Amino acid sequence: MTTPQEVRQAVHQTMPTAIENLKQLVRIPSIATQGYPREQVLEAARITERQLQAAGFQQVHQLEGLAGGYPAIYGEIEGPPGTPTVLLYAHYDVQPSGRAQEWDSPPFEPVERDGRLYGRGAADDKSGIIAHTATIQALQGKPPVGIKIIVEGDEEFGSSLSTYIPQHLDLFKADVIIVGDHGNITVGQPTLTTTLRGSATLTVEVRTLTDQVHNGVFGGPVPDALIALCQIIATFHDTNGNIHISGLEPSKWQGADIPEEEFRRAANLLPDVDLIGDSSISAQLWAGYAINVIGLDAPATEGASNSLIDAARARINLRIPPDQSAEYALALLIQHLKSVTPWHAQVAISESHASNGFIAKTDGPAYAAARQALREAYHKDTHITGDGASIPLTNVLSEQFPQAEIIIWGAEDLAARIHGPNESVDLEELERVILTQTLFLQRLAQR
Ligand SMILES: [Zn+2]
Repeated sequence: MTTPQEVRQAVHQTMPTAIENLKQLVRIPSIATQGYPREQVLEAARITERQLQAAGFQQVHQLEGLAGGYPAIYGEIEGPPGTPTVLLYAHYDVQPSGRAQEWDSPPFEPVERDGRLYGRGAADDKSGIIAHTATIQALQGKPPVGIKIIVEGDEEFGSSLSTYIPQHLDLFKADVIIVGDHGNITVGQPTLTTTLRGSATLTVEVRTLTDQVHNGVFGGPVPDALIALCQIIATFHDTNGNIHISGLEPSKWQGADIPEEEFRRAANLLPDVDLIGDSSISAQLWAGYAINVIGLDAPATEGASNSLIDAARARINLRIPPDQSAEYALALLIQHLKSVTPWHAQVAISESHASNGFIAKTDGPAYAAARQALREAYHKDTHITGDGASIPLTNVLSEQFPQAEIIIWGAEDLAARIHGPNESVDLEELERVILTQTLFLQRLAQR
């Protein structure tokens, strides 16, 4: 099985099993966080374990002792002597479904409509598990390179692999790492995501009074803390929505662009609301800064009394271009917060942390094989994109294995609505991902 046509046929034959396996996984609400049944997550672990075994992985077992309390599933297949080792990654836990009435069909009952399979986790990231198992199945359990697989059980609420990996380096050591938890920019357009932004978060508290007092008696000359905080927040952007914080300069973006209509739809943006910022969507998302208020402590409107608010807090998140230091950006943000605080109000920063972005090294044999496999599978040139979000695991892997080539791809296109209602995966896209991975392992072995 060496011609792309033969590989195509072998992959196509795996699809009925692949789709059945995906449905089986989607039926399990494996939400790995407090308030959801633990037994369901463990059931997803067992099913994943069985599917890995059935696909031809060996030494399949559950890794216990992860900080999150849910097992990761490990498996491997020894490659021919002298061949590289490829580590495949996916996760079996999912986001909660959110409000059921926003779904067109029940979130945990997989349904096919117009070539897409709907259900929570159908894309993120149960499609990743299926891509990996079907790849190995298409190769009849005999890949031309060494394979390791790790399917994590608590990715969505803080990946506990991040602390586990540094303590178990032998288990994860590989020449190539495939993070199968991503997707093409649009269905059918082969895409390699080569950069991820960094992130910094802090809480800022503004205080003007030792205690609340009556705003009728004291309001006017005495400043309230919430208005002081709002004035600080209002300095983050200029009127066009460009970030206006001294020292935070966006990086340059040279890769692909995002189609605006598709992006607006994916973002759930209301029809008349503007996109903000002067540079292109892709430049802002993948090479620019973004700053958002993600939480606010202030009195609730219900039961609000006539009082001057003595203290208010905001949780602020800053996204950082992949090639810039997150620690440095965090320091600049703190400096900014202090310098724009009005009226000599007291300002205190707490709970701050920063993590750098990621830049893949794309000049090695694995990236060459990946580009070749994508061309053979899609008959199109590959687009290079970034991701505005971070994948903390990617940082841990690149720190621990600086020589490894890390490839980020999968079947989660922009229309997949991961984390939202009506999540879905395009089944033909999933087949192309499996085809790409199968071709990739062969091309890698030939290099
Ligand atoms: Zn995911």
